Amino acid sequence: MSPAPGALSACEIMQMNSRRSSDWSPGVGKDLGAQVSPECATPIFAFNGRDWLWAFGLPIYILIGTARHELSHALAATREGAHVESIHLIPTLTPNNGVLWGYVNWTGTTTWITLAAPYFCDLVTFLLGFWIFSSRITMPHWMRIQVFAIGVLSPAINSVYNYQAVWYNPLADVSRVATTIPPVWVGVWIVLSLAVYCVGILALVKSHAHRNLDPLQHSFISSTRHHRSH
Ligand SMILES: [Zn+2]
Repeated sequence: MSPAPGALSACEIMQMNSRRSSDWSPGVGKDLGAQVSPECATPIFAFNGRDWLWAFGLPIYILIGTARHELSHALAATREGAHVESIHLIPTLTPNNGVLWGYVNWTGTTTWITLAAPYFCDLVTFLLGFWIFSSRITMPHWMRIQVFAIGVLSPAINSVYNYQAVWYNPLADVSRVATTIPPVWVGVWIVLSLAVYCVGILALVKSHAHRNLDPLQHSFISSTRHHRSH
């Protein structure tokens, strides 16, 4: 059953108790029959408008994403017995492939695993970033923004950017993987990983977008709206 307009939710009651320590009454939640969850008592994080200013750091974030991508290729190639000769992490104009964000040169035989390594790395990074961002690990606001940018957005964007190249670039990583293993498996991986990225990012943004509204102010607004409607 939904609460009556203007009524306080269990979460709001708990937040009010935690803020107004001098007024705290241990029986408030109990008297109203509320099931109070401690998780909702103190919001761990809320996005605010100034967080968009971090977009000016885009070149740094691109460099970090490129490093994660190319080092994944290099590590996988080394594990498969190849010799990595050079790693390039800044945009470069190449004779055969146009402008590349970065690339790795190696000698020796490798399999599709070396080509696919950055996309496995993206998913692992995303899941780790999602967990850290959602956790109650204490960190400054700006640092949690970096976890979101580098650990959540960056791997998702890298994968999406490279997946779409499969439609027009036969030399793209994913296109080459699809020539060595059944393309249906590549398709299944793309669909499932995109679903994880979309659901994960939407869940984080939705659950952390409106928590910076003072619960006392929120209950006042709710009550005011209720009375005005009559
Ligand atoms: Zn690559």
